[in-house]
Amino acid sequence: MTTKQQLEIRSQLLSVVRDFVKQDVIPQAAEHDEQDSYPSELADQMADLGLFGMTVPEEYGGLGVDVTTFAMVFEELSKGWMSITGPIGSHSMLTWGITKYGTKDQKERWLPDLATGKKRGGLALTEPGGGTDVAGMQTYAKKDGEEYVINGSKQFITNGKNGDVFMLLAKTDMNTDPPHKGISGFIAEKGTGFTAGKDFNKVGYRGVDTSELLFKDYRISSDDLLGKQEGNGFYQVMDSLETGRINVAARAIGVAQAAFEAAIKYSQQRETFGRPISSRQSIQNMLADMATKIHAARLMTMDAAERKDQGDRVDQEAGMAKLYASEICSEVTLDAMRIHGGAGYMKDLPVERYYRDAPLMIIGEGTNEIQRLVIAKNLLKRYEI
Ligand SMILES: Cc1cc2nc3c(=O)[nH]c(=O)nc-3n(C[C@H](O)[C@H](O)[C@H](O)COP(=O)(O)OP(=O)(O)OC[C@H]3O[C@@H](n4cnc5c(N)ncnc54)[C@H](O)[C@@H]3O)c2cc1C
Repeated sequence: MTTKQQLEIRSQLLSVVRDFVKQDVIPQAAEHDEQDSYPSELADQMADLGLFGMTVPEEYGGLGVDVTTFAMVFEELSKGWMSITGPIGSHSMLTWGITKYGTKDQKERWLPDLATGKKRGGLALTEPGGGTDVAGMQTYAKKDGEEYVINGSKQFITNGKNGDVFMLLAKTDMNTDPPHKGISGFIAEKGTGFTAGKDFNKVGYRGVDTSELLFKDYRISSDDLLGKQEGNGFYQVMDSLETGRINVAARAIGVAQAAFEAAIKYSQQRETFGRPISSRQSIQNMLADMATKIHAARLMTMDAAERKDQGDRVDQEAGMAKLYASEICSEVTLDAMRIHGGAGYMKDLPVERYYRDAPLMIIGEGTNEIQRLVIAKNLLKRYEI
């Protein structure tokens, strides 16, 4: 495909997604958020638009768009309601992992249904014992002939209740040095012996299920070992998480942009002491800082996405983009609330939802403390004296 064709596809896709957000997502967001109800119809519409298979190659039924387009779509969706990215976010890490590391048989078996959204899924990495300390995971997959027997549990798994297929990380060797070399990836489908447990009640990112997944003597065929090789799970999931960090950065930009647009509009309508509050320098300073931060975050995210499209590993750039975009998202949504005064604190306007949704981006796909550690480690290697 030529660059011109790719740009045309991007522009068409973004236009369709913008219409979907305006006509369908925004009118339903507040109610789903309030009720914490799963947006099944919206998820089905996203499947019809091909969004479950955005980065899946066309030969497997996906749209085959680049990571840059993928990030732009996440920003557009998040401007309407960040939760609507939930059904396709960690699902896309699963499809990325299978596309990049799956055997030919695994790709043929799983990708077509995942691309159309007939089957939906996610990433099962975090455990009750910790999400940051991936290498310390306790879920164990013991080889037994042509099968593995898996015991353990995962928590905070997006799409855990509603999803079908998961990229499941488990230790196949508890004694490797370093420990992360004992981690393997599996493609695990519900209905074959594991269950969803508790569904967590969250401050934001509501409507999307965030659940436990419980594995008790769960038997999985060695054909479902990702790439049919043990010990590669850490590497596979870190690569998938790079696209995850880009999508989280893009979500943060979408939420921040929506908050900024609400604030700049409100500032021109709201009058105090006979003048719109937008005429006051303190409000103008806030608006200028909000827009500048969003612009910088977007440039960083697009840079990380473009580098990923060139085939590079981008843990540093994706980490920086996710770190910066998520931090400014929290700042911008709080400033939007300030500009709205008391009205911003009320459930009547979406500003309070933007504020509640923002912190997820600080925590998800690796906390910002960990992003800083990864960034610093890379920098120290690059500038070693
Ligand atoms: C809504 C939601 C959805 C999620 N969806 C998924 C999903 O689909 N799949 C999945 O696998 N996980 C998912 N997660 C889990 C998420 O990735 C983890 O919560 C996150 O990685 C942090 O892990 P933790 O919660 O165990 O915190 P911990 O690892 O216990 O960390 C607690 C605190 O200590 C800090 N910390 C930990 N270690 C260090 C260190 N070495 N140096 C400095 N600071 C440190 C952390 O930054 C954090 O501030 C989701 C989480 C949420 C909230």
